[in-house]
Amino acid sequence: KPVIFSGMQPSSDSLQLGNYIGALSQWTKMQEDYDAIFCVVNLHAITVPQDPKELVERTRRTAAQYIAAGIDPEQSTLFIQSHVPAHAELAWVLNTLTGFGEAGRMTQFKDKSQRHGADAASVGLFTYPILMAADILLYQAESVPVGEDQRQHVELTRDLANRFNSRFGDTFVLPEAQIPKTVAKIYDLQNPSAKMSKSAETEAGLIKVLDPANVTSKKIMRAVTDDDNEIRFDREAKPGVSNLLTIFSVLGDRSIESIEAEFQGLGYGHLKKAVAEVVEESLAPVRERTTELMADPAELDRLLARGAERANEIANKTLDLVYERVGLMR
Ligand code: ATP
Ligand code: MG
Repeated sequence: KPVIFSGMQPSSDSLQLGNYIGALSQWTKMQEDYDAIFCVVNLHAITVPQDPKELVERTRRTAAQYIAAGIDPEQSTLFIQSHVPAHAELAWVLNTLTGFGEAGRMTQFKDKSQRHGADAASVGLFTYPILMAADILLYQAESVPVGEDQRQHVELTRDLANRFNSRFGDTFVLPEAQIPKTVAKIYDLQNPSAKMSKSAETEAGLIKVLDPANVTSKKIMRAVTDDDNEIRFDREAKPGVSNLLTIFSVLGDRSIESIEAEFQGLGYGHLKKAVAEVVEESLAPVRERTTELMADPAELDRLLARGAERANEIANKTLDLVYERVGLMR
């Protein structure tokens, strides 16, 4: 079976709807047909400041949400990034192959360093994509299911793999991003030109998987729209309404056209109410299952330790080969 790798940062107390739609729900569909490897990337999370106690809690919670959404830890390899030292070790080697200008072109760094203030941004945030390249290349993944925002990082991964292979001999499989076409990006409800993010500075536009139904529906009812009161998909002219239509369409599993037709002539309030309902239907089971899993942290840790064992085995094979190729004595 072809290998896929993907991960999420434990950078918040809950995943957000974009993570669920753009990544997690895609992963669960792919488990059968792929040799799937899913990671909670806690080393990536510390590229911006984290509270240590919270980080531990969020790491478990992120893993619990993977399982709650349908990742089967028997079928797929599910683990915590810091349990596999090879990630940091390969990242170092790849750092030495990455151009400064090349890393400087990454738009996520530009966005995030702006948000945290250019001077507050760490070197770790700058080299984030290189650690991500290590994550992917260690498992010789052919395909990387991510949201649109990660496309550029997967391209860099490909470039680095290619560079390593031509300098040191064939070592890495060249990975490709696998980005769902229609649902590649969910936008912030208050600022529909920005992608929804776990670590957004304001939470008003953020749908959290683990929030209670009333909190989420309030946020949806207050979502930014426009003045012409016409329910029609138009990403440019009507970003807020289009975002709601996308969410409705993907979670309700129906076409945008059929939603437009059903709500023709009705106000935005009607649409928002219906969106809140489908969101709740999708997220309620994930929320409930996450609570159950979090009630038994020892069992969760046991599952993650097993995943780490499997991951270490694969990752160390690749790292040994890399060290040999580069001429690093073991
Ligand atoms: P952070 O703000 O800490 O960066 P995030 O919400 O961007 O958090 P990540 O952990 O960086 O989440 O990304 C996890 C996965 O979710 C990636 O595959 C990413 O492409 C996807 N993703 C993140 N935000 C969205 C979104 N708004 N729409 C679709 N996919 C998304
Ligand atoms: Mg992100």
